[in-house]
Amino acid sequence: ASDSVKIIEELEVRIKEFNLQEEVKVVKTGCFGLCAEGPIMVVYPEGAMYTMVKVEDVKEIVEEHLLKGRIVKRLLQGAKAEEDASIEKSDFFKKQMRVALRNCGVINPENIDEYIAFDGYKALAKVLTEMKPEEVIETIKKSNLRGRGGGGFPTGLKWEFAARQESDQKYVCCNADEGDPGAFMDRSILEGDPHSVIEAMAIAGYAIGANQGYIYVRAEYPIAVNRLNIAIKAAKEYGLLGKNIFGTGFDFDLEIRLGAGAFVCGEETALMTSIEGNRGEPRPRPPFPAVKGLWGKPTILNNVETYANIPQIILKGPEWFNSIGTEKSKGTKVFAIGGKINNTGLVEIPMGTTLREVVYEIGGGIPGGKKFKAAQTGGPSGGCIPAEHIDAPIDYDSLIQLGSMMGSGGLIVMDEDTCMVDIAKFFLEFTVDESCGKCPPCRIGTKRMYEILERIIDGKGEEEDIEKLEVLAKNIKASALCGLGQTAPNPVLSTLRYFRDEYIAHVRDKK
Ligand code: SF4
Repeated sequence: ASDSVKIIEELEVRIKEFNLQEEVKVVKTGCFGLCAEGPIMVVYPEGAMYTMVKVEDVKEIVEEHLLKGRIVKRLLQGAKAEEDASIEKSDFFKKQMRVALRNCGVINPENIDEYIAFDGYKALAKVLTEMKPEEVIETIKKSNLRGRGGGGFPTGLKWEFAARQESDQKYVCCNADEGDPGAFMDRSILEGDPHSVIEAMAIAGYAIGANQGYIYVRAEYPIAVNRLNIAIKAAKEYGLLGKNIFGTGFDFDLEIRLGAGAFVCGEETALMTSIEGNRGEPRPRPPFPAVKGLWGKPTILNNVETYANIPQIILKGPEWFNSIGTEKSKGTKVFAIGGKINNTGLVEIPMGTTLREVVYEIGGGIPGGKKFKAAQTGGPSGGCIPAEHIDAPIDYDSLIQLGSMMGSGGLIVMDEDTCMVDIAKFFLEFTVDESCGKCPPCRIGTKRMYEILERIIDGKGEEEDIEKLEVLAKNIKASALCGLGQTAPNPVLSTLRYFRDEYIAHVRDKK
């Protein structure tokens, strides 16, 4: 969309023109994260990051930088001085820590050799040749890695439950059905570093005793699906998937299943029902998937970002992972930042980083110098964090205390002009649309909530409508069958908690 392909073509032409083809290689990578300033080009070994590059800039970059070693400062992101030209020193990256995104924007995701050159499949080799399955599970448990898909359940514990089950068949699944409005973390990992997920799933298979895996990915992510297909094929050719991996006798195969775009299919039991070939509707838990999952067999399901952390934990050890983050939330978290913020894009921060650092230092503040009003985390299942809590550390527990949730990592920033009742309506409209209809609290209740909200926003509401909305929201939370319905009222409840005055203003002023 931003002419990146033409930029690559122009680079090839100019590199040839200046006879640099022996020394300079152009590598097409995945996303760097700084969406607001694309297309991005990084020149190594300096690591100088050029942003908003145009086809017409290419000649100057080749002539000045590649030929004469002079950095083109006007295209540089953040860093001012020449010695500060590396990506790490740029405004956008200096507070970030890239674990799950370590290879995104660095390697060519369509070339398995590049992944291997960056220690790819080394963790799988270590696990298969040096560790027993119990030791792998112990390592993941000790790392305190929690699920990055939203719930934050300890990953090692989940693996242990599945490993303990006696069964002739077990499965490993990956949830890549990212559906939150404004979220694109999983897509970017799959597009930028698909092998990290494949490697982690094979490790999980070994740990729990499974030899078949499925990646459930949205059909609306064609680049991710294409790169996954290329990666799976290459891994099979290299003997890293399939029969007798590394000659150890361990077999593991992987297949992709495409989701048709239903938000509810991101819910674990609905996802499995969909993989089985049925309409993607949730089923009651217990039994939990670790006991009775796909086709009634023990199954583990983790999200893309959770898997992307696994090879690093195996290679660097659980102590290293524990050294990052807060007491109960270890490691890093990837967020897709959008809304009223200058640097929209994808960031990975150590847990415990404050919202202020994300918005003002990494995100570059609010456009037009406007005031920060709130940020929505967790998409339609989450809630808002108002300005008074901007210094709260971002981790699982503090977000829940604030009435929001980590969710999968969508973070939408709102400025002083945003109507919070409108925001609640926007998210509720999404969940009403996406409700699968299986249980009445969600199918009927969220619709009634939406009608009340519409009334309030249209200036036809009464003060008692606000009370009704709150009672209904709490009842739906308590009685809906799956996570979609249980969390659907959250945006309304959290805006009522922090911005009740805006609801009251709508009903009193009738506007
Ligand atoms: Fe379906 Fe909503 Fe009930 Fe979940 S809570 S089963 S999405 S109707």
